[in-house]
Amino acid sequence: MSELNLVLLGPPGAGKGTQAERLVADFDLPYYSTGIILRNAIEQGSDLGQEAKRYVDAGELVPDEVICRVIEERFDSGEADDGFLLDGFPRTIGQAEMLEQALDSRGRLLTAVLLIEVDDDEIIRRLSGRRTCVKNGHVYHLEFDPPKNEGICDQDGSRLVQRDDDKPETIKKRLSVYKEQTAPLIQYYEERGLLKRFDGSRRPDEVHDTIRASLAALRLEERL
Ligand SMILES: [Zn+2]
Repeated sequence: MSELNLVLLGPPGAGKGTQAERLVADFDLPYYSTGIILRNAIEQGSDLGQEAKRYVDAGELVPDEVICRVIEERFDSGEADDGFLLDGFPRTIGQAEMLEQALDSRGRLLTAVLLIEVDDDEIIRRLSGRRTCVKNGHVYHLEFDPPKNEGICDQDGSRLVQRDDDKPETIKKRLSVYKEQTAPLIQYYEERGLLKRFDGSRRPDEVHDTIRASLAALRLEERL
């Protein structure tokens, strides 16, 4: 069977997490979200994990090169021989080049880069509708999942607030950072013929169906 080496791209609020969960289940792929694999490496306490931990403990960003080595460790573990789903790396051209080199030195290539697109207004609508309970962090959405009584958590009766992260001004800032970093990356992958675009404003089920269909078509092409 051919490899399915995938990168997932998209702005905050595009529903990447939901799609990642489903793809991982569909194709039985290991899911490499940067945050998760870094945390795992640190917990396992390998030399590399300890190196990463020093940055985290110092409150510094873990350097690209260290993150890439953590990913390479996963590639070499055998679990990713049939493919993987990367999320959160690469975010910049520099990281994309590192990844390309890491794969190339193992005789591997990316299969596709999946970009889930959602326009800014829709992202702001999705994220700014979130309300979080002050006591236990239960999450609601004014539109999609409202509490029974306005402003009050169904589960523990505590007050619901809008977190700073979910305020429109913060969301706009995050979106502009995303665009600045990701626009060149999108072009980079487009030039290499790897980019597949998906309309993330549709229902999660529909987005999932189109991604699946696109990956199935890719595999067919390979066999011809
Ligand atoms: Zn609550």
